[in-house]
Amino acid sequence: MKINENFLKIQNNYLFSDIAKKVSAYKEANPAADIIRLGIGDVTRPLPGVVTEAMKKAVREQESVEGFRGYPPEYGYDFLRSAINRHDFAARGVTLKDDEIFVSDGAKSDCGNIGDIFDQDNLVAVCDPLYPVYVDTNVMAGRSGELVNGRWSNFHYMPCTAENGFLPELPDRKVDLIYLCFPNNPTGMTMTKDELAKWVAYANENDSVILFDAAYEAFITEEDVPHSIFEIEGAKTCAIEFRSFSKTAGFTGARCAYTMIPHELKRGGVELNALWARRQATKFNGVSYITQRGAEAVFTEAGQEQVRENIRYYRRNAQVIARGLKQAGFTVYGGVNSPYIWLKVPDGMTSWEFFDLLLHKMQVVGTPGSGFGAAGEGYFRLTSFGDGAKTEEAVARISAYFQK
Ligand SMILES: *Cc1c(COP(=O)(O)O)cnc(C)c1O
Repeated sequence: MKINENFLKIQNNYLFSDIAKKVSAYKEANPAADIIRLGIGDVTRPLPGVVTEAMKKAVREQESVEGFRGYPPEYGYDFLRSAINRHDFAARGVTLKDDEIFVSDGAKSDCGNIGDIFDQDNLVAVCDPLYPVYVDTNVMAGRSGELVNGRWSNFHYMPCTAENGFLPELPDRKVDLIYLCFPNNPTGMTMTKDELAKWVAYANENDSVILFDAAYEAFITEEDVPHSIFEIEGAKTCAIEFRSFSKTAGFTGARCAYTMIPHELKRGGVELNALWARRQATKFNGVSYITQRGAEAVFTEAGQEQVRENIRYYRRNAQVIARGLKQAGFTVYGGVNSPYIWLKVPDGMTSWEFFDLLLHKMQVVGTPGSGFGAAGEGYFRLTSFGDGAKTEEAVARISAYFQK
C-alpha cells in the first residue's frame, strides 16, 4: 500500500496561519489595541434580501411531497443554467449553450478539480504571484517535479511585477495548461481585450488550454476589460472559464459557482465538455436546490440592484485605500477593477517587515505579497472587503504615520 506522495511535497502554505499567529501574539501583549483587518479575502456584506427570500421559499417547498427535491442534477438545474446564460453571456454578445455551463459548489473546487481531465505530463504555466490553488492542485496531481529554490522544476512561471505592468509574458516555449486570473488576485490588475487576444492566439497555435478564472469580473469598471474570455474571438477552441457567486453576491458561505466549457473545445479529438460532464457526474452530486434558487434570484432586477450596491460599497473602500495611500506617498496598483489593492512596500523593506510595521505601529493587518509567490516580494495586499468606517480609520492611521 502506498499513499499519494505528491501530497507530501506540498509546502504547507503558512501564510494565513503565520499572520494569525503574529496578530494574536501582538494582541496578547497589547490587549487594548484596536486592530483593523484589511487582509481578509472573504466578503462581509450579507446576502441580498431577494436571495435569502428565494432560499426561504425553496426551503418551504421542501416541506411538501410535491415540492420536495432530492438529488439535484449534477450539472445544475436548468432554471439556473439558463439564467446564467442569459445574464452573463447572451447579454454581452457571447453565445453559449446551456449545457456548456456547469453549476458547482465553488470556483476553487473547479479550478482544482479540472486537472482530473488532463494528462499528468502536461506542462503547466502559472503567474507569479498567484492564487495558490493553481499550483498546489497540480503538485497533488504529480505535475510539479521538484522544488528548487522555491519554484517547482516542471512549472513554467510567468512573473507579474511593476516592470511588466503585472501582465504575464507569452511563454517562449510550448506550454499545455495556462492559468490566467483577471481581474487578478492578488494584484488587482486586469488585461485588456487586445492583451487577452494574444493569449487566445497563442493557445490556439500551441494546442494549449487556458484556464481562465473570472471570479472578480463583477468588479470590472473599465470599458476595454473583458468580463469573459469568450468575448475574444477564437476562445471557444482553447479556453475554460470559471466564475463564482462568492465575491459577486456574497455566496462564500452559501457556495455556488459555474464553469463554462464550449463544445468546440476539443483535444485529441475529444470534447473537454464531455470529459468534465463525466467527471462531475461521477465525483460531484450537485448544488442544493435551495442554494440554486438563491443564486437564480441574483439575476432578477432587484437582485442585480442589491448586488451592485454591495459592490459599490467595496469599491468605495477600494477608492479610500488607493487614494489615501497614494497621498501618503505609496505606489499603488489595482483597486479600479478589483477589490484588491497591491502596493509597493517602502524601499529596503521586505513584505513581512512591512507587515510587522503596520501591525505594531498602526494596528492594521494586511497580507505580505511574498506569500503569493516569489515575485510578490516587496509588495503588499490590502482588501476592500472590510467595514467602511474601519477602512477609513485604517487609512487615516497609515497616512498619519507615513506623513510624519
Ligand atoms: C475567491 C476566489 C475564487 C472563488 O472561489 P469559490 O470557491 O467560488 O468561493 C476563485 N478564484 C480566486 C482567484 C479567488 O480569489
